[in-house]
Amino acid sequence: APAPPPARHLFRDPAEVEALRGNLLAWYDRCKRDLPWRTLAATESDADRRGYAVWVSEIMLQQTQVATVIDYYNRWMQKWPTLQALAQASLEEVNELWAGLGYYSRGKRLQEAARKVVSELAGRMPRTAEDLQKLLPGVGRYTAGAIASISYGQATGVVDGNVIRVLCRLRCIGADSSSPAVIDQLWEMANVLVDRSRPGDFNQALMELGATVCVPKAPLCGECPVKQHCRAWHRKLFGNRPTVPDVEDCGVGDCPLCPPATEPWDSSLGVTNFPRKAAKKPPRAMRTATCVLERRGSHGAPEYLIVQRPSSGLLAGLWEFPSLLLAQDLQEEKEREELADHLQAWMGQPVAAKGLRFIGEVIHIFSHIYQTYVVYSLPLDGDVTLDPALSPSRWVTEDEFHASAVSTAMKKV
Ligand code: SF4
Repeated sequence: APAPPPARHLFRDPAEVEALRGNLLAWYDRCKRDLPWRTLAATESDADRRGYAVWVSEIMLQQTQVATVIDYYNRWMQKWPTLQALAQASLEEVNELWAGLGYYSRGKRLQEAARKVVSELAGRMPRTAEDLQKLLPGVGRYTAGAIASISYGQATGVVDGNVIRVLCRLRCIGADSSSPAVIDQLWEMANVLVDRSRPGDFNQALMELGATVCVPKAPLCGECPVKQHCRAWHRKLFGNRPTVPDVEDCGVGDCPLCPPATEPWDSSLGVTNFPRKAAKKPPRAMRTATCVLERRGSHGAPEYLIVQRPSSGLLAGLWEFPSLLLAQDLQEEKEREELADHLQAWMGQPVAAKGLRFIGEVIHIFSHIYQTYVVYSLPLDGDVTLDPALSPSRWVTEDEFHASAVSTAMKKV
């Protein structure tokens, strides 16, 4: 078994843990933001409804800012206030409501999981983090812990990006915060710290602290309710040595949680020395030709052709202008020809590459892809018969386009 981490990185003193919980919860009670899912979780007496509300909010909040989520969450809960209602929705409806929120597979999996709860679990949400993670598709360790602690009062910790930052600073953890050794340690710490009588509030308080006070670039240490327990803050104020020397204290040598010896503490960074991450891989560059086909609709207003993407993979099931992934480094002329051939399949008639009007390029960055859309337009005179054997397609007005399940990238196009 690996050696236990040095004491300076742990919470070993029960009195300190108790004090930290008390300070953090008192601060949370005073300063927490008013958020619709919090209100519902605090006031709803039906446990399944509470669980559902927290679940929806947690899935939406993954990779997305609170300010963006609020409107989506409110509209979602208005449309599908219960699991049962969501289980009856179509994927098309889910995608339409999710449009613009990104990471579309989240909505799809939420709906699949709701169907599973209704059809296989008699409509009853699992009540523990372990069961939530085991039984619900799309629910990982963090989401399971959040639902179980906030909705059902299970004393289980959570570790998300905010918690990683706060805990790494509280305990001067400077090894790569995405490494399994550090992540395991942080989960253990979160489980030790979580308040036994108010686990949901405690977890939300820790995340709230990371979101509003212990922020990535300029943390507000002076206002922090747990600064007296924070080793990074202490180190910033008093230098490297702890006030109370600990016989088990580690140096930067071979400690698995300290910053690597090659990147020691940088005093100009202060508490933002922590956490540290391994350098991210740069996003993959992709180039896609896309064409806005336009015709006069029956009432004279322009209409545009949109087609549906495959039901798996990136932007699964969303609608887009006919698009074609291009090989890198193609000459412009070749790009046009390939796009013209692709369009011919949709239109059932030859398309002259020269007829495609180049409009411009649109850049959109997905989490791991740097996507360039090369945008063309093609106005059509006659009618076009769409081949039903191809992916679903339809003509839409501009308003209908915006109400459809289209990605933010396509709206930019
Ligand atoms: Fe974060 Fe500063 Fe508070 Fe430490 S004192 S937890 S670094 S805000």
